[in-house]
Amino acid sequence: MLKKYAVIGNPIKQSKSPQIHQEFAKQFGHALSYVRILASQDAFVDTVKDFIKSGGLGMNVTAPFKFQAFELAQSLSARAQSAKSVNTLMFKNNKIFGDNTDGLGLVRDIQENLKFLLKDSRILIIGAGGAASGILLPILEAKPKKMHIINRTVSKAEALAQAFINQYPVMAGGFDSVADLEFDLVINATSASLHTSELPNLNYKFSKNSLAYDLVYGEKPTQFMEKSLQNQATKISDGLGMLLEQAAYSYKLWHGVLPTTQAVFEQIRSTLK
Ligand code: NDP
Repeated sequence: MLKKYAVIGNPIKQSKSPQIHQEFAKQFGHALSYVRILASQDAFVDTVKDFIKSGGLGMNVTAPFKFQAFELAQSLSARAQSAKSVNTLMFKNNKIFGDNTDGLGLVRDIQENLKFLLKDSRILIIGAGGAASGILLPILEAKPKKMHIINRTVSKAEALAQAFINQYPVMAGGFDSVADLEFDLVINATSASLHTSELPNLNYKFSKNSLAYDLVYGEKPTQFMEKSLQNQATKISDGLGMLLEQAAYSYKLWHGVLPTTQAVFEQIRSTLK
């Protein structure tokens, strides 16, 4: 029988994970089954347990279930603990282990693929939802000079920063708190690009060697990316590279080997058109 994996979410039909994991499997001559599973909002836990009973070995978890996956896991990686959310579950020895590879994936995309060095950089994170919470620790471990976290609902940015403030150069505020400040890297971790609503003008400045990164990805550059170019960002990127890299780290957790992503990235990019 093929080893069984899946991605669970709601909605789920848009997920590229089955294609990505099958392409990774080809790199190592692995044979596996990887399917999409749609769970209703109140049936996440039962759906995971049914998958385990059917012989499932691992699951990727996407919106809106990352927090429920965190609650369900019986043991957690340090990254998942810090993020308080789980995007990768592994079922082994009758135990459920939870990890979060989103932040690692983002850091690898920024540093390895986009060649932007996080060390000593000045970083602005816009947004304080699940995705923002998942990326903070891996970014801070790369030793930036400072990190500002801003959010429409300021209290959420403050709560995120609070967990790191004693150990790292982190501060939090509202959208008006970064006017005229200069940043090397600005990450849009809001879901604003997914809606028709735009982020307001925040009036921060990009440095000479800067990167504007939107976690959202799609066929065209997002409004945030376009606006960043107009505001003199040196480079822009959407979040497709992060998607590929987080998947590669999930693959490594389950199979012990880290796939290469470049060719798969091109392939998935062409299917977005
Ligand atoms: P959440 O729902 O947890 O958080 C949404 C965030 O966006 C909050 O900070 C919210 O602010 C903010 N927001 C939403 N609409 C607006 C708006 N119109 N103006 C200003 N702020 C807004 O979502 P996630 O954190 O889970 O996901 C965020 C994005 O990241 C999603 O688009 C998701 O697709 C993407 N993502 C991409 C990944 C990848 O691999 N590339 C991986 C994970 C996520 P407030 O708190 O005030 O409501």
